[in-house]
Amino acid sequence: MSLTARELLQRLAEDTGVTYPVVAKRVNRMMERGKGLLESVQEIAEENKLNPKKYRIDPVKIVAETEKILREDYTQTLMISAVLGQMVEARGKKRFPPPAFFAFIEMLSMVSDVPRDTKSETSAEIEERTTRIIELMTTLVSLLCEWSEKGVIGVATDCPDSLREVARAVFRKTKLLQGGLWTCISCGNIVEAKETRALMCLDCDKKISSAHSIEDRFESLGGRDRIGYGRTSE
Ligand SMILES: [Zn+2]
Repeated sequence: MSLTARELLQRLAEDTGVTYPVVAKRVNRMMERGKGLLESVQEIAEENKLNPKKYRIDPVKIVAETEKILREDYTQTLMISAVLGQMVEARGKKRFPPPAFFAFIEMLSMVSDVPRDTKSETSAEIEERTTRIIELMTTLVSLLCEWSEKGVIGVATDCPDSLREVARAVFRKTKLLQGGLWTCISCGNIVEAKETRALMCLDCDKKISSAHSIEDRFESLGGRDRIGYGRTSE
């Protein structure tokens, strides 16, 4: 079964005999009009006399793979976090969509006891994992949340019960951001988006010396609500 939107669209392209860019463009347009990812894909499948039930993605499996990657190695997870953190702050096409980033934050809070430096990962490996996480998270939010041309507008009706909390958190934080508010990645307080520094509120920023890298910021991710990830033993 496909796990990411790209894999699913690739399969649909192959099965329909249309090129990937054509299929992707069509699905994008349908989603902009408020259709879900699977709904769009299945509609195109039906038009082509294919069995729509063959085109599915199980969000629970996306979460499982994400957790597996994040548990592999502490340093790797920290570096992935740092890259995504920088990407969500970026502007333009390279920007990591905030809803996908919020989903990633939820995933981070689910992993605990990540082993420290059990292997030395190469930068190519980290890049590969980061790309995979980006695809998994963008796919996940497109499945868990209800979308319209305005972006996330709620929790998808077919969102699995076990992931409703994640979907609600993504929706809530995205809505706040649309209103110019940011949820601090460390303490969880809601502050003016304009007044944040590297995804944190000014108070948390002050606690972490500006000399530190963005990786250090992710050490304290989630703040008081966190029960796992981070250097809790030190
Ligand atoms: Zn804070």
